[in-house]
Amino acid sequence: MTTGVRLVLLGRQGAGKGTQCVRLSRHYVIPHISTGDMLRAAVREGTEFGRKAKEIMDRGELVSDEVIGGVVDERLSQDDARHRGYILDGFPRTVPQAELLEKITTDAPLTLVIDLVVPTDVVLERLASRRVCGDCGANYSLETPPKYGWVCDNCGGDVIQRADDTPEAIQKRLDLYERETAPLIEWYQERHLLVEVDGLGPAEDVTDRLTQAIEHRRSA
Ligand SMILES: [Zn+2]
Repeated sequence: MTTGVRLVLLGRQGAGKGTQCVRLSRHYVIPHISTGDMLRAAVREGTEFGRKAKEIMDRGELVSDEVIGGVVDERLSQDDARHRGYILDGFPRTVPQAELLEKITTDAPLTLVIDLVVPTDVVLERLASRRVCGDCGANYSLETPPKYGWVCDNCGGDVIQRADDTPEAIQKRLDLYERETAPLIEWYQERHLLVEVDGLGPAEDVTDRLTQAIEHRRSA
């Protein structure tokens, strides 16, 4: 089975990746597979893995490749992803993870890897104002708050600033991202899988650019 659209979306935190993943997931009717969300769910449920992961993430570090790769492999094996495709968010972050993903997807290789590009000053500004629903993970910001107080429009949960959205933790993540992802982008460029898309402007415009890039690839 090689129909469907199988995507990886790259981009620094604050590039609008989460929002665009949700929009693309609706557009193509494919699951949005966020390793961050899967991890946070495990942390919230307090599983053994979740507690270990929390310790690591609280230090601003990342969980091991074997663990994340296993979780991703399991998820991609489910029917919806096998039949319709998927959009991967948060994995791979490094070249070894990309090699792992290449093995996982041997039978149905990726359609396209998209790098969502936004300048650093814009990213920092967006991250400082970011707020998130502690229950369902819906995204808000100081500019786009929920309708009533800091109560989630979707589920009524508390909308908060993430504990890991402190300036120090943000800077640490951006530095780590640059260090690890620059070689990853090069790796996908060499395989002619990568396309850069401008992430500035209204969300609808960015989505249009993304679907154009995807359609262009699918018709090639
Ligand atoms: Zn919510």
